[in-house]
Amino acid sequence: MKCRAIVFTFGLAAALACLPAAAQPNLGGLLGNILPGGGGKLGSVLPTEQAQGQQPGNSLFELLSQSQGEIDEANEIAIGRQLAAVLLGSKPLVADTATQRYVNQLGRWIALQSSRPNLPWTFGVLDDAGFNAFAAPGGFVFVTKGVLDRVDEAELAGILAHEVSHVASRHHLNALRAKARAGLATQLLGSQIRTNNAIGSMVSQQLLALGKNLYSSGLDQADEFEADRLGVGLAARSGFDPFGLPGVLQLLRAQAPDNPLFSLSLSTHPPAQQRLDTLERAMGHRLDSLGGKPSVKIPRRVATAAKP
Ligand SMILES: [Zn+2]
Repeated sequence: MKCRAIVFTFGLAAALACLPAAAQPNLGGLLGNILPGGGGKLGSVLPTEQAQGQQPGNSLFELLSQSQGEIDEANEIAIGRQLAAVLLGSKPLVADTATQRYVNQLGRWIALQSSRPNLPWTFGVLDDAGFNAFAAPGGFVFVTKGVLDRVDEAELAGILAHEVSHVASRHHLNALRAKARAGLATQLLGSQIRTNNAIGSMVSQQLLALGKNLYSSGLDQADEFEADRLGVGLAARSGFDPFGLPGVLQLLRAQAPDNPLFSLSLSTHPPAQQRLDTLERAMGHRLDSLGGKPSVKIPRRVATAAKP
């Protein structure tokens, strides 16, 4: 597996190079959405703003910090694409077309039942043993391989529905605006972050600093509780066992806070027991009749989805 080492070293562009040529179009929707040009050279992994006709990163940052009204959807997507590139710069995508396709199909089906079905929803599996999920404005959602290794389909649906709900409710976008308006980017850049890597040179330094801060500190607790509540409803509406997400919270509750595979998930979210209690109050017994569906293992679904 010569490719594996390359994937870990160079990230997404190399991951692409490792995929059989015939398999690459299957990732086209995923990569085309995140990466203008679809990969190939490292440069094309990064947002090419002018080529896309989008506002440059600096203008997007100004939009976050200064605009009074709603940020329109095109700019929301442009901001999300830049943050997605930041996330992809830290972890490569799993170089397994069948897995990526399955998670995209599952995620897009769920997103179609959300309040914003028309966003360019894009899902990806990051090659990381940790247990985590991330979303960026405009419809970009990532889960780690560590999640896929530990959950069944209903639980994965619950996690994706939670992340889709964050995006549909613009939680990250609003958090970025609040941080930008508070002048946090200037503080971060002034005090510690001096990025001189490839991503840092092409994405607005301010946006990059805000994104890194957001993904390490997490959203407001109220947003997390709302995403749990909306996510359970969304998973149920999509035909999945609504108790998938509570099942994930039970898994999180059982982890030691210093377990390195779970520490980021735990530190960026309210305590799992509190999330379970809050969900229980919101759900009551209304969804009980929808529970108890048979558990479906991810590898079996991936194998089925891989069939032409
Ligand atoms: Zn969340």
